[in-house]
Amino acid sequence: MSEQKRLFFGIELPRESRQSIIQWRAETFAAEAGRPVAAENLHLTLAFLGEISEERSLMLQHSAGRIRQPAFTLTLDDAGHWPRSGVVWLGPKRAPRGLLQLAELLRSQAARSGCPQSTLPFHPHVTLLRNASQPVALPPRNFSWPFRVSRFALYHSSYSQGRTRYSEVAHWPLEQP
Ligand code: ATP
Ligand code: MG
Repeated sequence: MSEQKRLFFGIELPRESRQSIIQWRAETFAAEAGRPVAAENLHLTLAFLGEISEERSLMLQHSAGRIRQPAFTLTLDDAGHWPRSGVVWLGPKRAPRGLLQLAELLRSQAARSGCPQSTLPFHPHVTLLRNASQPVALPPRNFSWPFRVSRFALYHSSYSQGRTRYSEVAHWPLEQP
């Protein structure tokens, strides 16, 4: 059996949004609030696949390549705290239909290919802080980072020398109107 890799489908944030978000985060949250996610790791997960073989990864890449979904604008204008998972996040107040449809397709393809998906509803979010298990003062919702999402990608998540890194395995375009 081939080597297993930890993979997920997701969306990358544009560099300018990432820079602006980390600057705002530094001004907004106390250092004790949690561990900041590195700027280059800010992303939105569409479907988590877990540790899977190359064969299964190729099957999923084939299915992903058949997806025909429209590009959409995603606006990060909401924030929240999930104390149980220790996550402070940014997300959209209203998730675009294109995002929900894309995630639903990828998650059902994943489930059909033997990657069990959470039964909890999909909550699109970008993790900002980890290990945030104590109460966190959330900022007023007077921020907004809108960006166009015209592609999605498969990422390999690896951990070494105390750091988690994501590297892009493959990506696919969304359709322009
Ligand atoms: P680390 O776990 O090293 O602190 P990470 O959580 O970003 O960093 P991964 O655990 O590889 O790295 O997760 C990659 C992405 O998949 C993240 O967005 C993470 O929130 C999400 N994810 C991880 N495990 C699951 C899971 N069981 N169900 C749904 N999403 C998950
Ligand atoms: Mg993790």
